[in-house]
Amino acid sequence: MSDTPQRLTTAFGNPVPDNQNSQTAGPRGPVLMQDFHLVEKMAHFNRERIPERVVHAKGYGGYGTFTATHDITKYTRAKIFEKIGKATPMFARFSTVGGESGSGDTARDPRGFALKFYTDEGNWDLTGNNTPIFFIRDPLKFSDFIHTQKRDPGTHLKPHWRRWDYWSLSPEAIHQVMFLYSDRGTPVSARFMDGFGSHTYSLWNNAGERYWVKFHFKTQQGIKNFSDADAAAMTGADPDYSTRDLIEAVDRGEFPKWKLFIQVMPEREADTYKIHPFDLTKVWPHADYPLIEVGVMELNRNVDNYFEEVEQAAFEPSNIVPGIGFSPDKVLQNRVLSYADAHRYRLGVNYHQVPVNQPKHAKAAVYHRDGTLRVDGNGGGSVDFEPNSFGGPVQDPTVKEPPLRIDGNADRYASYKGDDEDLYGQPRLFWEKVLDDTGKKNLVDNIVGSMSNPNMGIADPRPIQERMLRHWYKVHPDFGAAVARGLGLEKVKTAAE
Ligand code: NDP
Repeated sequence: MSDTPQRLTTAFGNPVPDNQNSQTAGPRGPVLMQDFHLVEKMAHFNRERIPERVVHAKGYGGYGTFTATHDITKYTRAKIFEKIGKATPMFARFSTVGGESGSGDTARDPRGFALKFYTDEGNWDLTGNNTPIFFIRDPLKFSDFIHTQKRDPGTHLKPHWRRWDYWSLSPEAIHQVMFLYSDRGTPVSARFMDGFGSHTYSLWNNAGERYWVKFHFKTQQGIKNFSDADAAAMTGADPDYSTRDLIEAVDRGEFPKWKLFIQVMPEREADTYKIHPFDLTKVWPHADYPLIEVGVMELNRNVDNYFEEVEQAAFEPSNIVPGIGFSPDKVLQNRVLSYADAHRYRLGVNYHQVPVNQPKHAKAAVYHRDGTLRVDGNGGGSVDFEPNSFGGPVQDPTVKEPPLRIDGNADRYASYKGDDEDLYGQPRLFWEKVLDDTGKKNLVDNIVGSMSNPNMGIADPRPIQERMLRHWYKVHPDFGAAVARGLGLEKVKTAAE
């Protein structure tokens, strides 16, 4: 550090003679309008906040590398997987969903697991969660569902009756609700949780063959969760605990790693497979579609500036690269549109200029021009229309993906068809096969805690509790009975029979 401090200036470089005393008319007089340094300082301060993300507002992240360790070129031509040993730089952001930007990291909430890979053919964003499924499978329900996780419009409080009212009327959610209230609903930090692309995506190879795919990132640090009580206590004691955990681990040189696995389904099998492969509330059982190892992701560098690199990081499923494609999953289709739409609102139309969002291994060549705060040269004097005879960028038919097979009549198809649909099969397997006795007990206790007053925060929670209990009984009689016992509502079983 130099002995002579750097001279303070305005944002436009004009030296500032005094940063402690405003210009006033006399020592006791009012402030002068000509004190442009004061005006600039206050005006910039007033504009420090940009619109907060409506969901996933509290987050933290860092940079790293993805390295391919296994050959999957028979499924995909994506450059990131083109050869064993290929290393691609990437950025990750982890988040809670329902809380505000200053809320506690350890809340019981799904965790966002958003990844941006700077590949040779542009950015590939995999905007996932720490769960392989989700609460809804029709995007028309998204804003309603999110409202149940947010504050009551009247009181600005977060009573739990809102979520249980919604879930009890939306049984496709119960699989994810069981994940959420299990021990994995309160991970210690991103280092100790798995990540999932959640949706079904597709891979396509050089021969033009398409495969449906699920992405799984398995933590190499081991799964570590807070108990319900410890998570709640940590929200008060250190709301930024998980953020700090990742930053400090990277500073210590303990670079967290996740192994990437895929599940692969040949395109035609989607027509006959027993489970709807594009239903976001269901997993593909490992026995039918085993995990195939692909590579390893390591985070090894913290950000220098939170606002620039994390708050302005924009992940969007529409960032897709040749060799990877979408699926007919309705929620994915909607996210392709709505993520970029949210970024244009929050950050402005030129958000691709923020360094963390820029492609790093590919060069953007577009005919877009102008827009708020365009600062990347704006194409200079180059031609801004296409086709042209002046050497502007041209399309490349070799990166055209194979046709996506879609048919059917345009209509509004029910996402929940009634009790005859197997909404309870996978939740039942989760209860019977995945959870051990401690896991079952914790799941029941966590649900009972949330569904009890005062957490419910409503004068008569009973109708909601009973409606929800009937779902737990349908998942498994032991599960229903345990929750009923916890709530003192054993008699509801009779009503379910
Ligand atoms: P398996 O018996 O082959 O594996 C069980 C899966 O459950 C593992 O991926 C395990 O993750 C995960 N798991 C363990 N505890 C929890 C928890 N508290 N919350 C969420 N996931 C947990 O599973 P199947 O494929 O036969 O599916 C059986 C049931 O397992 C499904 O109905 C579903 O509820 C659940 N599940 C399935 C997944 C899948 O993609 N097939 C993924 C996650 C859950 P780990 O290996 O890290 O311990």
